[in-house]
Amino acid sequence: MPSKTLNMYIGGQWVESESGKRFEAYNPATSEVIATLPEGTRLDAQRAIAAASENKHKIASMSVWDRARLCRRIGDLMLQRREELARVLAEDQGKPYHTEALAEVDFAAHGFHNASEQIKWLETAVIPTEDVNKRVFSFRQPRGVYAVITPWNFPINIPVEYLAPGLAAGNAIVWVPAPTTSVCAVKLMECLEEAGVPPGVVNLVTGPGPVVGDEIVAHPGTDAVGFTGSPRTGKQIAQRAAGKPLLLELGGNGPTIVLDDADFDVVTSRVASGCFFNAGQVCSATERILVQRSVHSELINRLVKAAETIHLGNPFDPATTMGPLNNGPTAEKVDRHLADGVAKGAVIIFGGRRMPELGSDLYYMPTVVDNITTDSLLNHEETFGPVAPVMSFDDYDQALTIATQCNLGLVASVFTTNIKKAFYFAERLRTGIVNVNDNSNYWESHIPFGGVSGTQSGIGRLGGKHSIMEMSDLRTICMDVGQ
Ligand code: NDP
Repeated sequence: MPSKTLNMYIGGQWVESESGKRFEAYNPATSEVIATLPEGTRLDAQRAIAAASENKHKIASMSVWDRARLCRRIGDLMLQRREELARVLAEDQGKPYHTEALAEVDFAAHGFHNASEQIKWLETAVIPTEDVNKRVFSFRQPRGVYAVITPWNFPINIPVEYLAPGLAAGNAIVWVPAPTTSVCAVKLMECLEEAGVPPGVVNLVTGPGPVVGDEIVAHPGTDAVGFTGSPRTGKQIAQRAAGKPLLLELGGNGPTIVLDDADFDVVTSRVASGCFFNAGQVCSATERILVQRSVHSELINRLVKAAETIHLGNPFDPATTMGPLNNGPTAEKVDRHLADGVAKGAVIIFGGRRMPELGSDLYYMPTVVDNITTDSLLNHEETFGPVAPVMSFDDYDQALTIATQCNLGLVASVFTTNIKKAFYFAERLRTGIVNVNDNSNYWESHIPFGGVSGTQSGIGRLGGKHSIMEMSDLRTICMDVGQ
């Protein structure tokens, strides 16, 4: 496929960078260049912030019903362009077209439809007062100009998690997408433009995160920040944003506890999907499996069988159920975590290597690794690859100690057929969400999603009305009606 020349979108125009520089976008399945994009500079980011600032009144002054209609039109247009968006997603990100890319586009379109509904029914309080002459009520107002930075693992859906509630709440937005999936960002931006988002209300700046991303975070012209990515970058962003409202979603390491009374048919398919969906590049992926010792062998055997059925291959092959990893640093991190685990006593039972013979060295075999130790990177950090790391436990206290000793706390899961045991763990695990009898990836776009306090998994809650509340200010009006 010939490479395309794409531009960024500032003030309602598709423009080059002021520097005239461009970077290349690669297909991770073939290493071919599929497009070139402007390599934005701090000046480009500042132009985008100025455009958002000049035009924020256009969305803020729109009635809630009009904003709802706008969000619905964007969702409808995404569904009309479903196949095209999914093709770009498979080509730019690497996920399988048939089994994952189409579903991501549907889920993202639903995100706009969901915001369109939520904003209409978001009632706020009339507050009783001690003073008989006072009438006090509150309502939600836009925050102003939002800085939004999004990663490469769900490059259509994660931007929608900020763009949809952000617009519904009446904000203007400056958006910096991950460079390795910026072609997806351009296609999504086209849908917003076609649906009638007023010029300057959403601005897309492509280029390196530490340059254009940093500029939109730190610049006094942005009023709040939304970011999904690594804890390390999230921490830098929190420092650079210094006092602005933050919505940060920073990943997890999905502790999954399997008890001896669990239904193993349910466990196998769901845990395997938790580990291997999107080649494991999911913030809520099942990253550690803690299994009761008496059922350890059964789980290992079943996970290996599940891994064997995965068809690793070109994202456009209808038989493919797992594509390549998106980028080199991610594959290197998986190599590093596995090597560290093995050096500390873990045993690779299946996979554990790349498959460059498939077309690029980003293809990584689904991997089952047993006997991981508590001091290993697999236990402490987010691996973000197609790995099922297993360890056994003897009693519930031990399982809880291991599960909670990590400084990430996004989503956990528990498999058991006993409701009391389910609650025992659900109330003690330190994560924002606990899924019982499903893998850590289960989520619907209106369910509150985010990290628990005291960990490095983020600040705030994404999802439905929770996002809208995070992305708006609460204004309280106190009226004296005394004579
Ligand atoms: P980063 O958090 O570094 O990058 C995410 C986005 O932030 C990218 O667009 C990046 O741009 C941008 N960015 C980087 N530095 C800054 C900065 N100083 N200011 C503003 N924006 C910045 O993650 P990586 O892509 O490097 O992935 C590393 C690990 O992070 C993964 O292995 C995974 O564990 C985790 N991760 C978690 C995600 C999640 O869903 N929670 C999503 C992605 C990653 P650029 O690429 O140019 O640096």
